[in-house]
Amino acid sequence: MDGKVAVTVRGATKPFSLDASELSIASVSVNGRPTRFVFDEKHAKLRIPGVPTGQSVVEVEYSKQVSDDVIFGLYKSKYDKDYILATDLEPAEARTVFPCVDEPAYKAVFKLQITTDDGLGVIGNMPLVRREGAGAGRATYVFQESPRMSTYLFFFAIGRFEETKLTKGGIDVITATRPGQAENSHVALEISADALLGYQNYYDVPYPLKKLHIVALPEYHTGAMENWGAIASRESYALVREDTNFRLKNRGAMSMVHEVAHQWFGDLVTMKWWDDLWLNESFATLMSYKMTQKLHPDWEMWGVFLKDEVFMRDGAMKLDALSTTHPVQARVRNVAEATHTFDSISYGKGACVLRMLEGYVGEEAFRAGVSDYLKKFSFSNATGKDLWDSLGRRSGLPVTRLARAWLTRPGYPLVRASIRGNKVELTQRPFRFIGGRASGTWPIPIRMRTDGKERSFILNRKSARLSVTASSELFLNLGRTGFFVTLYDAGAYDLLASNFPRLSSHDKAGVMNDLYLLLQAGLVMPDLYARFVSLCRANPDPLTVQLVVEQLRIVEAIASDSPIVQGITHNFYPSLLEHFGESPQPGEQPMVGTTREYLASRLAQTDRSYAEKMAKLFDNYANLDPNLKAAAAIGFAVTNGPRAAKILQDMVTRSQSEVERDVIYRGLSAFRDPKLIQESLDLGLTGRVSRSDLHYVAGSAARNPYARDTVWQWMKRNYDSMRTLYAGSQQFYIDLSNILPLCAVEHQAEAKRFLSGRRLREGGSSMIRTLEMLRINARLRKRLLSSGNYD
Ligand SMILES: [Zn+2]
Repeated sequence: MDGKVAVTVRGATKPFSLDASELSIASVSVNGRPTRFVFDEKHAKLRIPGVPTGQSVVEVEYSKQVSDDVIFGLYKSKYDKDYILATDLEPAEARTVFPCVDEPAYKAVFKLQITTDDGLGVIGNMPLVRREGAGAGRATYVFQESPRMSTYLFFFAIGRFEETKLTKGGIDVITATRPGQAENSHVALEISADALLGYQNYYDVPYPLKKLHIVALPEYHTGAMENWGAIASRESYALVREDTNFRLKNRGAMSMVHEVAHQWFGDLVTMKWWDDLWLNESFATLMSYKMTQKLHPDWEMWGVFLKDEVFMRDGAMKLDALSTTHPVQARVRNVAEATHTFDSISYGKGACVLRMLEGYVGEEAFRAGVSDYLKKFSFSNATGKDLWDSLGRRSGLPVTRLARAWLTRPGYPLVRASIRGNKVELTQRPFRFIGGRASGTWPIPIRMRTDGKERSFILNRKSARLSVTASSELFLNLGRTGFFVTLYDAGAYDLLASNFPRLSSHDKAGVMNDLYLLLQAGLVMPDLYARFVSLCRANPDPLTVQLVVEQLRIVEAIASDSPIVQGITHNFYPSLLEHFGESPQPGEQPMVGTTREYLASRLAQTDRSYAEKMAKLFDNYANLDPNLKAAAAIGFAVTNGPRAAKILQDMVTRSQSEVERDVIYRGLSAFRDPKLIQESLDLGLTGRVSRSDLHYVAGSAARNPYARDTVWQWMKRNYDSMRTLYAGSQQFYIDLSNILPLCAVEHQAEAKRFLSGRRLREGGSSMIRTLEMLRINARLRKRLLSSGNYD
């Protein structure tokens, strides 16, 4: 790519420089006169000594080699034999596309002009003004001037597109897909347009641009990105259909709603520096659940919020209990450090704290405070403190004090609750999986219920004694709005067990989450966890069952050979599947369908006769209920070995739908034969499937006890090419921490040696985090195998 950039500079600093990296600089001129320059590639700076301090125009001519090996920055998003040239620039890749001042606070007006082969589609942040022939089969596309915006939100894409448009409230919402995929973009289109109108109302600020594109990219390294006016997304988020299984449809739709929330919060008003990245992400996360819940009340979004953002996977409560955690408001000294703050602490914990603050000031004061903040800082930048001030003014409450306590300290509290006669004693200390010696207190908003009476208060001190009668009930963290883990004494656990059937869905899930965290920390015995797993089986609740299935999947991945684990899981999947029904019932809630998907998939993996039953359904795969497809693929793989491998590989390489492939990969990662697992893992690196598919198999196979070691050997061999593919972006480290702590559970020392030799500058903290997760899993495995011996 050849490029030319003209930067109008007012009040240039001395010495003057632009950020630039991975570019070949041909010439630089200042106010029309060629000038000398120094391209300091090591520091990614283009130093231009001749820029006067007043107003001047700096022009740079350069070229850029677009690599075939990466899917980040300016890259080729490949499909079939074609590709879309696209950008993905957060946090600091804009400098690899054009020389600029690549920091969020340096907002600028962009005038974009692109010359390319005639007949291709070109999408930018702003609407196209005109297209002019440029001779020799080329055309120039000229875009409207943008409002002031940050460089990381800049976007363009060039390729063959099919567009679908929906105009709502005078704004064009447009999906752009590769040819043949437009019909799969309706869910994304409709929910994005609905969310756009919903946010206009909520924020009380009109959408600031004239159009909003949703660009579905066949290869995309992360989920989606909120480029202003041109959201980019992986296809499995943007191309979900009405008949996609609910879990994936929900994830895709919500991710659109998340990116649309950013069009104001993040794009119109942007953080001053990356230390407030969390504010962008927590807010968009909170809003995406709030808005989706409003648009689809039957989707039970707050349950999904708890499970996906707070409890499971890399949920906030897991990462925040590691010694490597960081405050939500992290110190970010440079952009390399910013890369490591794209985690569930920035997204999930931050969203929990915002939800807690919303609960504290009230929904309307929260909304009005946000609206004031957006109006005041439109087209500009702001900090977290600006938002607290705004919420404080609207509510008249000391918001800053509460916010600061939760945002500037890493970790969260463990609250011990015990009953002594007619007193309840509460004590708090920081919760850690390993090395729980830290001290300190949080102001914890507690909602507690004893004997049918509810009370709310803030636990400010290390401990408190409350006079209450709690002869039949003691429950903390009602409604699961508090970000803490509760450890009851034996008597209180007995009360909790007898009251368990009456708890709300969120409270039941909260209890299971806490017990699982405490089990990992070695603070409760497996038999207590097992006792409550049995209660979940006896009192089936869709959300709680999904959560426990995910927990058991991890526990089985690391210690399926432990008799305790076999005891805990015994009969769990079949009895619950019987309860929820093996096939869909008319009028059932979407969450029930997803629960069936969870249970059937686990049962197909662990129970031979059920696997055979599901393998038979595989013959009619295309017409199966979408929630049963994963189980059918797993059952088919488990019972048909090499024959299934050939058919599933063929399906996945031919499938045009990433959403479909996501499901088929569950089958490809279910084999017991290492050779077949190996073949499945290689698919993503050979170019036979989209390179964004890489983590589907590895993530799922790492949870298959039979495949664990194969994944570990494969990971060692392919570590460097995976890292190259992601070009040092955060997605590589997210995948690493999702896979390695499971697959290397019996190779702890080796994994440590392996990663130590690869502690690249930007990877340090993520690698230490991954190793700590591995240590926790290895320790849990040991304890589960030695039946007890807890400290
Ligand atoms: Zn976001």
